[in-house]
Amino acid sequence: MNIAKVIVDVPARQTDRAFDYLIPEQYLGLIQPGVRVVVPFGPRSLQGFVVDIDSSSDIEKLKPIQELLDIEPILNQELLQLGGWVTDQTLSYQISSFQAMLPAALKAKYEKEVELLKPDLFSSMPSLLQALFQRGLTVPWSEVENKPNLIRLIQKEIKNGLVEINYVVKAKGKKKTHKVLYLNCSKEEALQFLDSMKAQAARQKEVLEYFITNQLDKVPRIFLKQDLSTTDSPIKALLEKGILIEKDEEVYRDPHQDRKFKRTTPLPLTIEQTNAIKPILASIETNQHQVYLLYGVTGSGKTEVYLQSIEEVLKKGKQAIVLVPEISLTPQMVERFKGRFGSSVAVLHSGLSIGEKYDEWRKIYRKEVNVVVGARSAIFAPFENLGIIIIDEEHESSYKQEENPRYHARDVAIYRGKYHDCPVVLGSATPTLETFARAKKGLYELLPLTKRMHDKGMPDVEIVDMREELRQGNRSMFSTPLFEKLQDRLQKGEQTVLFLNRRGYSTFIMCRDCGFVVTCPECDISLTYHRSQQLVKCHYCGYEEPVVKNCPSCQSDHIRFFGTGTQKVEEEIGKVLPEARIIRMDVDTTSRKGAHEKLLTAFGEGKADILLGTQMIAKGLDFPRVTLVGVLTADTMLHLPDFRSSEKTFQLLTQVSGRAGRHDLPGEVVIQTYTPEHYSVELASQHNYQDFYMLEMGMRKLHQYPPFYYVTLITVSHPELTKVVAITEKISTYLRSNLSNQTIVLGPSASPIPRIKNRYRYQCMIKYKDEPKLKLYLKDLLEHYQREMQQDLQITIDMNPYMIM
Ligand code: ADP
Ligand code: ZN
Ligand code: ZN
Repeated sequence: MNIAKVIVDVPARQTDRAFDYLIPEQYLGLIQPGVRVVVPFGPRSLQGFVVDIDSSSDIEKLKPIQELLDIEPILNQELLQLGGWVTDQTLSYQISSFQAMLPAALKAKYEKEVELLKPDLFSSMPSLLQALFQRGLTVPWSEVENKPNLIRLIQKEIKNGLVEINYVVKAKGKKKTHKVLYLNCSKEEALQFLDSMKAQAARQKEVLEYFITNQLDKVPRIFLKQDLSTTDSPIKALLEKGILIEKDEEVYRDPHQDRKFKRTTPLPLTIEQTNAIKPILASIETNQHQVYLLYGVTGSGKTEVYLQSIEEVLKKGKQAIVLVPEISLTPQMVERFKGRFGSSVAVLHSGLSIGEKYDEWRKIYRKEVNVVVGARSAIFAPFENLGIIIIDEEHESSYKQEENPRYHARDVAIYRGKYHDCPVVLGSATPTLETFARAKKGLYELLPLTKRMHDKGMPDVEIVDMREELRQGNRSMFSTPLFEKLQDRLQKGEQTVLFLNRRGYSTFIMCRDCGFVVTCPECDISLTYHRSQQLVKCHYCGYEEPVVKNCPSCQSDHIRFFGTGTQKVEEEIGKVLPEARIIRMDVDTTSRKGAHEKLLTAFGEGKADILLGTQMIAKGLDFPRVTLVGVLTADTMLHLPDFRSSEKTFQLLTQVSGRAGRHDLPGEVVIQTYTPEHYSVELASQHNYQDFYMLEMGMRKLHQYPPFYYVTLITVSHPELTKVVAITEKISTYLRSNLSNQTIVLGPSASPIPRIKNRYRYQCMIKYKDEPKLKLYLKDLLEHYQREMQQDLQITIDMNPYMIM
């Protein structure tokens, strides 16, 4: 068994297979599937993943592996297999799938070190290890690297928990350490000592008492100082007396570490919750895979069902993954899980630095936690004994990755659920049509929660026709009903959330005389006005230019911005309701780390009357004093060139409406729109998912879209328009002639965004019910254009597109 099959880090079609390498003598038995190695590849040395070990190869002269990067597999058997599956499902490269499952820190530059975890066992350690660690607890990998016997020993001792390998990410901040104080004697001795201390040493006594009364052996110095509001001097005195000792210990860069979470206990479940949790608990008990759809409006108590299911899983010694949309991964959300399960929860989201993400991942890898709460990629958490996977807000499109590999976390969840024989729970008030249809068919088990907690009804929703407002001479962005309600809330001291589905100061600049719109010279989309910088910017490619004073086309000075952005709304409120205190939340005000949390806390503490924001305030927030929610323009999403635009509008409006009246005070919602008659708007205002589902299913059936048909989208881009058109044409023709008659091939057509960064974009859409060979044909196509794709041609294939742009 001296041949390793290696996937090398070259994301390209022709290298997308395992290459054989010879395992050199000194690494024999050390290299296992799932470890990373460095191998010679052409003139270069590359990183690669070992996927298999074999005893023979068809190749005669094999090159040897140059370097071993991991001692323990970084991808276990399940994840290796899953990587293959993701690759096949998404038509991506194997290397991309593997990398998507690991924290970015492992791709960055890092140095390895070996650390002795149990220094107290030093004297009983093998002499090789004693020699290694005689100068310190950590030793650079370079001292081990060429000593196979030592490596073998270390590999053994990792399993025993004596040593471990650390990856120290360079330039991204090292492992953080802090000073930890240890009591250097028994509790009895400490008590004796306390008695013998002089009265003047009151501060020292206090420190010692802290250890004794809290039953602590150790405590981080900083916590002790905070809790006792004491200085360093009594600590120093105790250290000098040898009663305390101090060590530098690793702190995980957990951004939540300083927050103390109030522990919560399980609530007695309502009848509906009990009925919903029963089948889930049964699946956990009997180790059976089943997909559940926990279908309940916001505030119906889904989270409590998640928490109590997880508790059962933990009792069985198993682990849980909870996916939450990036945007709802708020501190409030995290608190609910940490409050129940304390430090056994890891949190993974994109707000963390590379180092922080790596720390959280490592807690999972080392099995120091058994619950992970995270955004999409947390679905790859390297747990080995999963007992449940929960996907909250399963309809959120952020669960689909929009770059290679273009996987959907729901599909991965179901794959892993089958592998581990455990339940997968999808939760939503507005499930995707695909999911609800499967539940209706019985493929998933439907678990409804129909009532809101504490007998709260759904808030009243009023739709305001903005065309009518205009006809009556109201040119403001606030309709009369919304404005009156805003005034009313201000008077009563209640809070309002105003929702706008846009960012920036305003959208586009248009000439009122000739209709000229300022657009990006490269992307064919209108530029967005950023008032604070007096610039117009392209949101696709980043192009920017100063605001013009005169129309470039007709020289008129009647050229100004149109549309509305959060900044503009903020100003407008300032004019009409000058006494209102406003917190604005959008990409601009929340780009700094922690800003998001600060603004929400301030609003929660009543430091503002109005919370104004974009999508990011649509979900998950729960403030008792919010009694009014206003949607300024419901239409922005409705007119996107996307077959899911009605569904997305319905989901969004329903979510937003759920923000009002969650507590004792009744809530009201005002939706302003230019298309009040649209069924998404109307049914969302009635909280009527069932009718929406029926109507939208009818539309999907009529126009042959999911869940009746599968959709695959091919996008071709190239700097030359003629080339793009010609290639997309050839692709469409090839597919038409090979696929079945029932399959529909649309295109070639210009993409909704026909040009990005000077590249023209064309697309071809395939709608099909059953095409077992489709992936083969698509792979053929990629093969065929391989050479051109190494130059300027780009072909992206999305087997389940959520963004059609
Ligand atoms: P969802 O996740 O469906 O939006 P939540 O789980 O947030 O709903 O529940 C809404 C509110 O009701 C929360 O404040 C929660 O603590 C409370 N709640 C949930 N279940 C119960 C219960 N069985 N008894 C009392 N309060 C509950
Ligand atoms: Zn003009
Ligand atoms: Zn652009």
